[in-house]
Amino acid sequence: MLHNPGKRLHSDDVTWRNARVDFRHMFNGDYHFDGETFVEGRKLITDGVSSVKASIKRGNFEAARQKLGDILHTLQDFYSHSNWIELGNRFPNSNLIRSDVSDIGPVAG
Ligand SMILES: [Zn+2]
Repeated sequence: MLHNPGKRLHSDDVTWRNARVDFRHMFNGDYHFDGETFVEGRKLITDGVSSVKASIKRGNFEAARQKLGDILHTLQDFYSHSNWIELGNRFPNSNLIRSDVSDIGPVAG
């Protein structure tokens, strides 16, 4: 792939926004699934998925990539800050990205 040195790679939008969540939302537990904020964290993800889809429909791919970075952070933190893995789960929790399902299972922080 050719890279224009004067222009950031598109994946940089995702990476930057993912990292930014830790300082922009440092004290908002729901962005990190801290303090048992499973309902709120899941809503950030499902709302974010809707926002990504809407941005793509409008052709605003930069906004879509940025929101994707935001929600990937929260999605990753679910696995870091819950006992999902310790419970023996071997697969991702697909209910985290489904707006039609509210139960994400018997997890704890
Ligand atoms: Zn975090």
